[in-house]
Amino acid sequence: MSLTINEWQRVNLHRWAERGVDGFSASQSLPLSIFSRLLADVPDADSLVADASVVVDVRAFFAPASPGASRGPLWLSIKAETAVPLTCQRCLKPVAVPLLADQAIRFVATEAQAAAEDEDAEEDVLAFTPELDVLALIEDELIMSVPIVALHDSCEPEGYTEGEAPVADRPNPFAVLAQLKKDR
Ligand SMILES: [Zn+2]
Repeated sequence: MSLTINEWQRVNLHRWAERGVDGFSASQSLPLSIFSRLLADVPDADSLVADASVVVDVRAFFAPASPGASRGPLWLSIKAETAVPLTCQRCLKPVAVPLLADQAIRFVATEAQAAAEDEDAEEDVLAFTPELDVLALIEDELIMSVPIVALHDSCEPEGYTEGEAPVADRPNPFAVLAQLKKDR
């Protein structure tokens, strides 16, 4: 089954998790263009990502109950895969950078509880909300997976022309810093 964008933005995870013993899984390919925050810094995003997609794979489930409890906590596992066009920091041309988000989120009853538990937990801890914007969560995870510096595997620095004397093998690190500042 496939969900509309609107349905992805208003998910009751309790209802999803109650659907079966293993909860509920949804896999879908969504247009990359709807993730506008992720694309905020992509120049010319409209034309570059027109046909690109994000492959999303989520599962909502209740963890096994501890003895005496009727059921365990509600979890959401998120996987999302795409590629975004970023600017290569060496040649300053676009480079397609693969992104992979893979995150587990545990839900608790209140914001206070989430704040108290999130710091020590390996997973993300969020307060349960009956209408969760799962797309926003996926987008957050993708944004966090964007590398600080994007580079082609192999390319020449901007302004480089064939036959030019090669730069020293190990450039002075301070010269590199100065160059970075100039590029800003
Ligand atoms: Zn490059």
